[in-house]
Amino acid sequence: MKSYEQNYINGKWISSDGGTPHQVINPATEEPCTNIVLGSAADVDAAVAAATVALKSFSQTSREERLALLGRIVEEYQKRLPDIAKSLASEMGAPVGLGMAAQGPAGLGGFLGTIEALKGFQFSEQHGPNTIMYEPIGVIGMITPWNWPLNQIALKVAPAIAGGNCMILKPSEECPGNAAILAEIMDAAGVPAGVFNLVQGDGPTVGAAMSAHPQIDMISFTGSTRAGIMVAKAAADTVKRVHQELGGKSPNLVLPGATLEEVLPPTISGVMINSGQSCIAPTRVLVHRSQKADAITLVKNIVSGQEVGDPMSEGAHIGPVVNKAQYDKIQDLIQSAIDEGATLETGGTDLPSNVNRGYYIKPTLFSGVTPDMRIAKEEVFGPVVTLMDYDDLDQAIAIANDTEYGLSAVISGDPAEAAKVAPKLKAGMVIINNWGPAPGAPFGGYKQSGNGREGGVFGLKEFMEVKSVSGLPA
Ligand code: NAD
Repeated sequence: MKSYEQNYINGKWISSDGGTPHQVINPATEEPCTNIVLGSAADVDAAVAAATVALKSFSQTSREERLALLGRIVEEYQKRLPDIAKSLASEMGAPVGLGMAAQGPAGLGGFLGTIEALKGFQFSEQHGPNTIMYEPIGVIGMITPWNWPLNQIALKVAPAIAGGNCMILKPSEECPGNAAILAEIMDAAGVPAGVFNLVQGDGPTVGAAMSAHPQIDMISFTGSTRAGIMVAKAAADTVKRVHQELGGKSPNLVLPGATLEEVLPPTISGVMINSGQSCIAPTRVLVHRSQKADAITLVKNIVSGQEVGDPMSEGAHIGPVVNKAQYDKIQDLIQSAIDEGATLETGGTDLPSNVNRGYYIKPTLFSGVTPDMRIAKEEVFGPVVTLMDYDDLDQAIAIANDTEYGLSAVISGDPAEAAKVAPKLKAGMVIINNWGPAPGAPFGGYKQSGNGREGGVFGLKEFMEVKSVSGLPA
């Protein structure tokens, strides 16, 4: 049993002022795995006070000083990859292999990408008679989810440091250990006291206190659209900047005549990886009616061949989903698709045959899904693929865009044809013949998938204020 019962405030581990003990449940065993204390509004006040003091000097640091600091964080992070992988496996069920190969490295990538962006960043540029300066925003509150937790955290912490800001991080209460390890990394890297503060806690208490806090200048939120709306409402009275990275329901538009055996395996893997718990999982697979039968055979093979198993053991299997609430929600959506007349090709609501406990979902494929079904509209966040068919490309584009979300969209097939379709898709990221955007691409979405972008130069600008100075001599 791990214990992370203190917050990291002003460079020290300190006990919560009025917090509530909480146990994280291991989704593979359904038994407690981590003790934390859910923090309080008083903890947020203490962290904000520390960040406000630290900002005075940290905002004045040079590019070189911030690059050196980020470099030291990368070194310390690399040493802790095995601890991060084990923590994720026990708290959210990502297998240790995925933790070492993807989950942990994704966080590292956020720091490395920011270092590259910072090296060449123009802090000042001339636009006609105006000098434009990019400055720190100030004290930034960060609220993050559990699904790719260190990826989401790093995409906020790294550019906030690069931009000369100070911060308070509230990670997901479902998966707090990796954030505590990150605080240890920051400490070991010599991040000045008060620059990075960690307050463990839940959304309604710590998250809400941060969102409404008058001395927090910006909230950067990643999570569900539901909570993102609550954060924006709570932030409105203080007119702070609100950056939102929210849910998704991404299409995989398979172009007519695409070579299915080439394009489907890599993109279907984007629905299976991390047990389907990826905001950009391309779950709505759109196939031309003439290729429907072939697509079903091929995807059914992939999905039914996907192994499920213990996250603590090595292998290419997927683990359980994060908790009972997610498990119940996914089961309900699978049942809704059956009830609404979709064809269950493989999977379903039973436990996989090799396990007898834990929040495991059978990798599932539905065909004959229509846009009006719940499974086609709601974010499932489980290893569930839905096949929909179309008669012509215009109809496929209309179905792809027929969602309240607009995070990412996959186009599978000839890249030259895909280039003509990409401008017609209402999504922040379009990916051709793959499911994840290339490193450095601005990450973020249209519509109810959020506001703002993370990663690379765009992510750096998100954490900076723009000042114009007019009247300077040329
Ligand atoms: P969630 O919204 O339940 O929780 C996210 C965070 O918000 C947690 O830290 C939680 O404690 C906090 N929170 C909850 N209610 C709050 C409130 N009222 N005020 C302030 N904070 C509050 O989401 P989740 O279940 O942890 O994560 C899954 C969701 O995140 C999915 O919808 C997924 O698509 C989305 N996501 C989006 C991206 C992206 O970049 N767009 C990346 C990863 C995950």
